[in-house]
Amino acid sequence: MKKPASPAKHQQRMSKVKQQIDKQIANADKEQGVAVLLTGNGKGKSSSAFGMLARSLGYGHNCGVVQFIKGDWECGEELFFSQHPLVSYHAMGAGFTWETQNQAADQAAAENAWALAARLLADPKIDFLILDELTYMFSHGWLQLEQVTQAIKQRPAHMNLVITGRGATEPLMAVCDTVSEVKDIKHAFRDGIKAQRGIEF
Ligand code: ATP
Ligand code: MG
Repeated sequence: MKKPASPAKHQQRMSKVKQQIDKQIANADKEQGVAVLLTGNGKGKSSSAFGMLARSLGYGHNCGVVQFIKGDWECGEELFFSQHPLVSYHAMGAGFTWETQNQAADQAAAENAWALAARLLADPKIDFLILDELTYMFSHGWLQLEQVTQAIKQRPAHMNLVITGRGATEPLMAVCDTVSEVKDIKHAFRDGIKAQRGIEF
């Protein structure tokens, strides 16, 4: 078993760590918004995005949400955040893919959602924006990646942006500043446990 360091050694180590962290903090002095991309097959991408929405609202920021894939089923984040006076909330009602099985309708819904998202992305009054499940628009060929990456790059400099969805590709990663991949280790669904209110939706 590892023995704890002596108090003097511990103090010495921690002081070194503090010096390094202080230096990194001093170097991170650029004033600009960030684009965060959350991808991967594990659970936690959208719920993390909505966690950042809650943080932003804590500071009175003006926020926007566009959910690109959203069936007719309810979800807690919509019930809660769509009521908030600082949130402009848009969930695409049509429901995509395996629900609709209608390519033309899906394409039209994707374009409508993107028109809305593009408007919010260009709006200097918006401080924080979520584009939830955006990546599926590319994997199905409903949106061109190029037009989206351009709009992300051209957004107002102060705007924080969070994009979620599985299977993000390199060009999208390249225009984002923070990219995390959530790894699937296990999921209750595969053990036959019913989806939980407040956890899954
Ligand atoms: P969450 O909204 O819970 O943060 P997510 O955004 O990371 O999840 P999605 O791919 O958008 O994941 O899937 C949303 C739904 O599918 C949620 O109900 C989530 O619990 C469930 N889910 C996510 N990952 C898995 C998985 N690996 N296996 C089974 N179900 C999953
Ligand atoms: Mg999600």
